[in-house]
Amino acid sequence: MKLYEYEAKEIFAQHGIPVPSGKVITDPSQIEGFTYPVVLKAQVLVGGRGKAGGVKICQNEKEAKETAKNILSLEIKGIPVKKLLVYPAVDIEKEYYFGFVVDRTSRKLVAIASSEGGIDIEEVAEKTPEKIAKIEINPTLGLRPYHALELGKKMGLEGKNLLSFTSIALKLYQICEKYDAELVEINPLALSKEGFSAVDAKLNVDDNALYRQKFEPKEEEYTELERMARKAGLSYVSLEGDIAIIGCGAGLVMASLDIIQKCGGRPANFLDVGGGANAENMKQALEIVTKQKGLKSIFINIFGGITRCDQIAEGIVEFSPEIPISVRMMGTNEEKGKSILKEHGYSAADSMAEAALRAVELARA
Ligand code: GDP
Ligand code: MN
Repeated sequence: MKLYEYEAKEIFAQHGIPVPSGKVITDPSQIEGFTYPVVLKAQVLVGGRGKAGGVKICQNEKEAKETAKNILSLEIKGIPVKKLLVYPAVDIEKEYYFGFVVDRTSRKLVAIASSEGGIDIEEVAEKTPEKIAKIEINPTLGLRPYHALELGKKMGLEGKNLLSFTSIALKLYQICEKYDAELVEINPLALSKEGFSAVDAKLNVDDNALYRQKFEPKEEEYTELERMARKAGLSYVSLEGDIAIIGCGAGLVMASLDIIQKCGGRPANFLDVGGGANAENMKQALEIVTKQKGLKSIFINIFGGITRCDQIAEGIVEFSPEIPISVRMMGTNEEKGKSILKEHGYSAADSMAEAALRAVELARA
């Protein structure tokens, strides 16, 4: 889950990382009483706002109000801008980069620092990899002051700046742990006469930790159908084809997507009812996937373990979709499930390939 820049900055400030103090506005008329110049920044959950015209510096109130109106009418990477963050512009002497990211290969957090901030770190990594310093963090030890000093020295810092960077790095690590972040980033970490400040802030919380984090899920990160599915406790993703896919368990769902593709079909979406789904869950699953437009068939792939095939069959029968379905059903209560389907004029295959092929044929018919 991504946090907005202003939310991340609030957390940074609470932990003692200097950030320019700003105000979130939704209307140009809310621009009042600032000392100029100010920065106006679109609050959207995507990066590269600067290049997209979502970050502007304004010299006076009149200009700021006009610019705010403009930015609030923008769409950045398809997302309409509804909120702006306004703060007195920092007189930046130099832009640095600092952050932590979960490295899935080493299964550790990695601290990344660079003297080249303000631009895409990916670009720095490609063109001047020697300007990036990294340290893998042992989760038991955490980030130690000597790590932070080493990174700071590699960024070319010394004296007072080196010490204040060290303090920011240690605080950011605390935030990373406390909020189960998979990414925290300050780009740019700006140096001015007043010292360092986090002019931009990114904090992405690992979705797997949301059960113990107190953030309200962000509606705007999901499509309407994805929201419905989340509410029902189902994992759902929209795609662009014409065959809906329902399975139980992430692995089986992925295999279903592959086999449909292999049989020449195009998945319209996929939904995982999870292990132990009952008739009601199955009904909801069908309700959600069939809301997608342009659907031609539905592939239902069930391997009954904890999930009972009879419950799945009952859900299918209760919903009785108008779009043709192809079911593969195996495992717990398979016979019972198949006979429920049969009573209502549906059939189920044992083999996944057979059912997938049939789903593709139905879509073509
Ligand atoms: P991003 O493009 O979405 O990463 O947005 P940023 O918050 O990083 O802003 C983009 C760029 O705008 C920064 O790299 C800075 O160069 C510039 N910028 C942002 N805030 C300030 C500020 O307070 N003062 C100055 N001088 N430049 C700023
Ligand atoms: Mn940035």
